[in-house]
Amino acid sequence: MRLILVGPPGAGKGTQAAYLVEKYGIPQLSTGDMLRAAVAAQTPIGLKAKEVMDAGGLVSDEIVVGIIRDRAAEDDARNGFILDGFPRTLAQAEALDEMLAESGQKLDAVIELRVDHGKLVERILKRADEAKAAGLPVRKDDDPEVFKQRLEAFNRDTAVIVPYYEKKGLLSVVDGMQPIGDVTGSIESVLQGLDEKV
Ligand code: AMP
Repeated sequence: MRLILVGPPGAGKGTQAAYLVEKYGIPQLSTGDMLRAAVAAQTPIGLKAKEVMDAGGLVSDEIVVGIIRDRAAEDDARNGFILDGFPRTLAQAEALDEMLAESGQKLDAVIELRVDHGKLVERILKRADEAKAAGLPVRKDDDPEVFKQRLEAFNRDTAVIVPYYEKKGLLSVVDGMQPIGDVTGSIESVLQGLDEKV
């Protein structure tokens, strides 16, 4: 199964992806996680990406497409993957189409976690507080001001991929404001519907 989770930062993509990894035994390909690892390891990509990420902007399409291309070619992704945080621009979505076509693969579904943007800021503040309380480092880009930039980047550059996939008949919308378990249940219903269509 090849699946994309779309939604603004803080919508719960990472949380839901972790659950899907367990259930379906396919990896989560999170460009955000991979970029953070590159920053921590101070690789050439990490050094280039750090400033943009800290400011809540988008890393270049070329870099993230390259990262996904390499990661998707690894053995564990052969039977499928869950894309989390990619694609984030129309150019990335088109590059993904090309990449899949080259390897004779196709997407099964795109699930949009639809959330109230006003409530997202509350959610992100909570995430930062919880991390602090647990003695974990708080992500720099969860700072409320930076978070607003990330939300703007979503509205400006990423929101267009929703109609892109809708036109292809791949989009399902899930209410991301429900409790976490209910969001999971809604995603499961969508995926079950896919099984029945096959
Ligand atoms: P995330 O953890 O998905 O919210 O990503 C954290 C940050 O990494 C984003 O705010 C961007 O700066 C960068 N990033 C992650 N994925 C992408 C992508 N597909 N395209 C461009 N930048 C990205």
